[in-house]
Amino acid sequence: MNTPIVHTVLLAERFDCGTTSWAVSSTTNAHYTMQIHKNCSVGECPAKTAAFGLLASEKKLVPDSGRS
Ligand SMILES: [Zn+2]
Repeated sequence: MNTPIVHTVLLAERFDCGTTSWAVSSTTNAHYTMQIHKNCSVGECPAKTAAFGLLASEKKLVPDSGRS
């Protein structure tokens, strides 16, 4: 599942805030996206929002608020 990313995909796609397909193609890529877009805001950056949503849905992220 967690195979190394060896795609020759355009690097720019990973850094483009408007590209969400790469971000959600795997949880590994979603983690990368979160790091790449660490200065972006969820809700404003489509790529980070998509990655965040994927990780959250797969319980890969633990929200630091709203804990019950
Ligand atoms: Zn971004």
